[in-house]
Formats: sequence, C-alpha cells, structure tokens
Amino acid sequence: MDVFDKIISGEIPSYRIYEDEYCVSFLDIAPIRKGHALVVSKKCVPTIDRLDEKEIAGLFAAVRKVDAKMRDALKCDAINIMVNDGPAAGQEVGHVHVHLIPRFKGDGAFDIAVKEKYAEGEAVRFCETLNLL
Ligand code: AMP
Repeated sequence: MDVFDKIISGEIPSYRIYEDEYCVSFLDIAPIRKGHALVVSKKCVPTIDRLDEKEIAGLFAAVRKVDAKMRDALKCDAINIMVNDGPAAGQEVGHVHVHLIPRFKGDGAFDIAVKEKYAEGEAVRFCETLNLL
C-alpha cells in the first residue's frame, strides 16, 4: 500500500477536493504554488500505460472538473497539468496521478526548465528512425 492508497482509504488525512469512481483529488502537501492539487487514480498502477481507455477517460474528466474548480476559486491565470510518468521523469510516488498547479502571470515557478534543440533536419530523421510518423 503506497501513500496515495492510504489517502484514498482515509488512513492518512488529506484536503480532499473531489472524488468519483475513478479518482480522488486532494491538495499536494508540498505545493509548487498554493492550491497545487493532485488527481489520483483509484486503480493503483505506476504509469498511465497501465490504465485502460475508460480509466484514462475517467481520470481526465476529473482533471477537467478540478481544473474548473481551481480556476473559479483561485482566479489563477493558468494551470500546469503534468504527469511524471515513471521515476526517471521525477515521479516520487509510483501510483498514477496528475498534478494541477495554479499559475499567475510572472510567478516564475518553472523558470529553470532546460530545453534541447533539433539541428537542421534532425527532427524528421529522429521521427523516421523511431517510426513515430
Ligand atoms: P510525483 O513526484 O509526481 O510522484 O508527485 C508526488 C507528489 O505527492 C509530490 O508533489 C508530493 O508533495 C505529494 N505528496 C506526497 N505525500 C503526500 C501526502 N501525504 N499528501 C499530499 N501530497 C503528498
């Protein structure tokens, strides 16, 4: 049983803001910005590819509801919707969840992101080599 299972069962307390048959949503205990919420799948699997289409649809329908609730309550300018889908992506809790992080113009929350660049012709070669097209 991971920490999110314990929150879902009520064994660990949380500030729960939404629940339905597919997921539970509550405030992140260490918010990137106050109001940062998680939408956590009730099915305990580590990554998105382990959910079927109905479960994914249920999860993201809930994300949409929580997004609307946050925009309304927080009057934020935007929301980052993120999934760290495995440990190498920064996932700390191996139980599918979506982050909703409220953003305000100029708040600088992700200013340190480092981006790569494709050289001339590299993007198409990349896609062809990996059969992505
Ligand atoms: P991730 O790095 O994508 O796995 O995110 C896990 C998130 O769960 C982190 O942002 C943590 O702050 C959050 N978290 C861990 N334990 C709790 C808890 N007991 N209640 C609320 N959020 C938690």
